[in-house]
Amino acid sequence: MIPREEELIYRSRWIVRIRWLVALAMGLGVLGFYVLDLPYKTVPLLVLSAAVVGYNILFAVAARWTLMKPVSLKRVYLFVNLQIAVDFLALLAWIHYSGGPLSPFLPFFIFHLIICGLLVSATSTMVHACWVLLALIIMGICETEGLLPHYSPLNSGVTEPIDSYRHLIAVGAVTGAMFLTVAVLVGGIARRLRRREQELDEARRSCEKNSQQIQRAHSQLEKVAAERNTFYRMVSHQLRSPLTSIQSMVRLITSGNVEEREQIRDLLTRADRQAQHMLAMINDLLSLTHLKAMNREEQRERLSVPQLIRDVAERLRSMAEEKEIRVELDIAASIPPVEGIHNRVEQLFSVLIENAIKYTPEEGEVAVSSFLDDGRVVVKVRDSGIGIPAGNTDKIFEEFYRAANARKYTRMGTGLGLSLARTIVEDLNGTIEVDSTPGEGSCFTVKIPAASGTSE
Ligand code: ADP
Repeated sequence: MIPREEELIYRSRWIVRIRWLVALAMGLGVLGFYVLDLPYKTVPLLVLSAAVVGYNILFAVAARWTLMKPVSLKRVYLFVNLQIAVDFLALLAWIHYSGGPLSPFLPFFIFHLIICGLLVSATSTMVHACWVLLALIIMGICETEGLLPHYSPLNSGVTEPIDSYRHLIAVGAVTGAMFLTVAVLVGGIARRLRRREQELDEARRSCEKNSQQIQRAHSQLEKVAAERNTFYRMVSHQLRSPLTSIQSMVRLITSGNVEEREQIRDLLTRADRQAQHMLAMINDLLSLTHLKAMNREEQRERLSVPQLIRDVAERLRSMAEEKEIRVELDIAASIPPVEGIHNRVEQLFSVLIENAIKYTPEEGEVAVSSFLDDGRVVVKVRDSGIGIPAGNTDKIFEEFYRAANARKYTRMGTGLGLSLARTIVEDLNGTIEVDSTPGEGSCFTVKIPAASGTSE
């Protein structure tokens, strides 16, 4: 339900409540006239007070039953206008029995017009002001012409026509001017108030929306900060262990406890290996942080996946030959280019092919295939290696994670390669999946969208 409807329903119930008080005031007024022996027609005025109570019961019931949700704005307006019109009729009757156009209660029309202006539109207020004024003029004419009895409070309640039109014209002109001025003023003020209310409501809603966005951004920032802290902790932890072992080896040498050349050489070789490991890790970390901070539009170009795969395979040939591993390439004839950064995409295939060779025992096999599938360039790197333990296939993409069998198989590894690969693939709007059987081998599948306008 829109707020304007809600507000009108609330106000239509509010006038029902106010009317109980008005009816009570009318009854007490009549009692006052009687006690003070004022020259007013107490019986018709008392009947009128009872009538106000009677129709207010009807309005109260109607407000409860007919304004049940959902309800249209038009219906609520109609209901409110009807109540206002009936109230004006009751007031006209009260005026008639208390002196007609000469009644001292005429200013009550102004109160009612103000309420009317606050409830309905400026136009409706003006319409109400006009018809009530017209009814008053007709009442005055009828009471002057003797068509309606004139109950004069000035003349001890004697029922006789108004003596001349002069009174009528004077009262009519003042009342009319008052009515129209009040209708215009109240209508204008109410319109401005409503506009302000609407503006306030809109401002409140946009504030709520903004605060929700800020809250979301804040929790995202908190998440990023927490992730960063974990990352720093892991980096420090990973770098500390090779550094501590280098330190202890150097101390052993400098302490003079190890004197044999062979032993010293062995210690230095181990320290060098650890330093290499650290360097590899630092290089991977630098690539990873650079990738994450990279502007996505930076130096993109159309890249030939077959060419990149051949280059990487060639570079890793000696590594494969050392272990007598056969690396087979099966690349479809026409593969469209992909859009990316040359060094990054090359790094992606490097990680996958190097891992395949690294985790495959001697004389094993590595097969790299590539083809086009549904507008995406697919690259599969399959090996006959140690495989990945069940339940580890998601974890291996996390930073520093190394499966237990891999750690046992070789100490050479940083646990950062696949994390790098995943970041590169995500940057290319692609996907990376792994399928593996421990002891039999693994197959990594990368899917990258072909460069626009090239996949047909
Ligand atoms: P690492 O430097 O240890 O190779 P990666 O991030 O490249 O780091 O790989 C993470 C882990 O995923 C590896 O330690 C290993 O447990 C597993 N893994 C990756 N590729 C293979 C593969 N071809 N065969 C078996 N295990 C693999």
